[in-house]
Amino acid sequence: MRSNKRYTNTTFTKRVDHEAGRHHTARAPREPAVCESCGAVYASRRWTAADADRGTREPEHWRPARLTTCPACKQKQSGNPGGYVHVEGAFVIAHRDEIERLLRNEAERASEDNPLGRIMDWKEDGDAKLTLATTTEHLAQRLGHALEKAYGGTVHYDFSHENKLARVKWCRN
Ligand SMILES: [Zn+2]
Repeated sequence: MRSNKRYTNTTFTKRVDHEAGRHHTARAPREPAVCESCGAVYASRRWTAADADRGTREPEHWRPARLTTCPACKQKQSGNPGGYVHVEGAFVIAHRDEIERLLRNEAERASEDNPLGRIMDWKEDGDAKLTLATTTEHLAQRLGHALEKAYGGTVHYDFSHENKLARVKWCRN
């Protein structure tokens, strides 16, 4: 029993040291950093949208920002969405502009909470159909909820936990 305990401790200590060193560099980007694609700013361990904080652009401890690519832009480039929103039904034909405006406004409001949640693709599929891809599962859900709240209809949420992918289907005829 004693030797067993000693063995466990040694293994545990070694592993922790090793991983702590590796994760430290991978998880904490140097600050401040700015995304060269969208202008989002990383400071105080969080991302802020480019046009948030108007008027406080140069805080007290301002120093030149390092250029990087934010996680949302990386995701856009890789083309792997976190969610899809399928919008369809006869209602869409007559109200397409209105629906598109609602979706864009809601995505903009959501970006105040999380600037990394974005619409990454927007596809019109005939008159009665619209498909959006989002960077996060959460934004897809939020857009589905906004449609239901504004126009009624039916909404279905479908999650694939393994792939971290949300499929939201909203329909009104
Ligand atoms: Zn970016």
